[in-house]
Amino acid sequence: MLLLIDAPTVAEPAAQPGFHEADPAAPQLRVTDLGASRGDGVFETVGVVAGRALQLEAHLARLTRSAVLLDLPAPRTEVWRAAILAAIDAAGGADLSVKAVLTRGVEGAEECTGWVLATAAPDMSRAREHGVRVVTLDRGYAADVAITSPWLLQGAKYTSYAVNMAALREARRRGADDAIFISSDAFVLEGPTASVVLRSGDRLITPATDQGILAGTTQAEVFAFAASRGLRTEARPVPVAELQRAEQLWLCSSVRLSAPVRSLDGRELGVDRELTDALLQHLAGGGSGTER
Ligand code: PLP
Repeated sequence: MLLLIDAPTVAEPAAQPGFHEADPAAPQLRVTDLGASRGDGVFETVGVVAGRALQLEAHLARLTRSAVLLDLPAPRTEVWRAAILAAIDAAGGADLSVKAVLTRGVEGAEECTGWVLATAAPDMSRAREHGVRVVTLDRGYAADVAITSPWLLQGAKYTSYAVNMAALREARRRGADDAIFISSDAFVLEGPTASVVLRSGDRLITPATDQGILAGTTQAEVFAFAASRGLRTEARPVPVAELQRAEQLWLCSSVRLSAPVRSLDGRELGVDRELTDALLQHLAGGGSGTER
């Protein structure tokens, strides 16, 4: 289901801001929309399991943070929330991927464009159960890029994912399924579409989000799970040598939930089946952030 948001941000005048259904198979976007012509916009992808939105509030908060980083007006959160929930309701308890997109709008119009598109969730069972082969790729930026060069928008979830998709193609050329970006000064960052979590003894560790990476909504829930199991958690800079020594690794994101890494740069990694299955069950149940 496609829902177009009538007044997606506080900058658009709106008597009664809402949304309306449109045909996802018909043209809806102007060719001069800056989201299309320049990739100038922000988005979120919300995972839905059996009709329940996972971490909806965290996604809405991150949409606003991304908009701020791009100097876009603040999204009308209540309208976006209502649209996302309406799209989920219409699908009647299905597993979904719900994408919410806010662009800078048609060139010169000074009005943002916004839509919510719910589609059937892709089948992630293979990655979740059998794991993924991962290669490390140089991201080309130092880990402090968000502080030194905020105009590079690292840490915002913006619609230009061409680089992320190119990294996935490069991973496939190298015989892997996915990638983990490394900073030019040798710190672990994130995957092209996922956060990275590693286990070392009784600790789960993730790269700190002040390094120009996304604050993952799924990763936050992984840490809530860890705490409930008495595992320690750490969000801090992770040198690449530590990644190479990790006993276990996962890629985590909203629709995939968690996928264990079974090889890293050709090195086989163990998969703790019990922990991995319990984590997946926790994430699919929505943990602390399930809506309805
Ligand atoms: N990092 C990047 C670059 C992503 O694209 C994503 C998800 O799409 C994530 C991390 C994980 O974020 P979340 O768990 O909120 O989906």
